[in-house]
Amino acid sequence: MSHSDSKLREEICRYGRSLFERGLTPGSSGNISVRLDDGGWLVTPTNASLGFLDPARIARLDAAGRLVSGDRPTKEIPLHTALYESRSEARAIVHLHSTHAVAVSMLPEIDPRAVLPPLTPYYLMRTGGTALVPYFRPGDPAVADAIRGLAGRYSAVLLANHGPVVAGESLEGAVFATEELEETARLYLLLRNLNPRALSPAQVADLVAHFGLTLPDHRGDCG
Ligand SMILES: [Zn+2]
Repeated sequence: MSHSDSKLREEICRYGRSLFERGLTPGSSGNISVRLDDGGWLVTPTNASLGFLDPARIARLDAAGRLVSGDRPTKEIPLHTALYESRSEARAIVHLHSTHAVAVSMLPEIDPRAVLPPLTPYYLMRTGGTALVPYFRPGDPAVADAIRGLAGRYSAVLLANHGPVVAGESLEGAVFATEELEETARLYLLLRNLNPRALSPAQVADLVAHFGLTLPDHRGDCG
């Protein structure tokens, strides 16, 4: 086990515990993966609570996805591989069953290409926007095809009636983006039917120009 490998294992456990302790994913739900320099992955084990991970038991996969050491990886690994395939710059992926994002995924008015309006600058800066993927039975390989179908335009994807899957260029980046998505979903539910002022198209354009953001090519219907 290399030095950086063991540091990443510690990081996965630390962020997992932090997410679990704040109620962001209950029971043994949620999983985390990190892509390594040799093309392999570290992945949280199946049926493991993110709150009680053991660094030594995290699954180590080779570049072909074969288990090299540790416990069997999460059954939800197809979600991760589909997003890595379409986002070549992604180094880490976080998947949670977080309450507010799951709640929003079931609302009738949700635009599948922009699940949440641009309520805050940090939502746009950290996630770039979120796409909705329709409901699939857990383990159905079709969900991976649906993620691939987004062609890498989104680093944040919300699975209907299930939860978010978010890629980042680092584990910290993926965790922060997932938290921002969950908090924005919470704001949306607090503000629903109160006619809130989201950021205007000009304010969004200013953020895009100032921070060099790449947003999915969705033009929000402002009418
Ligand atoms: Zn899940």
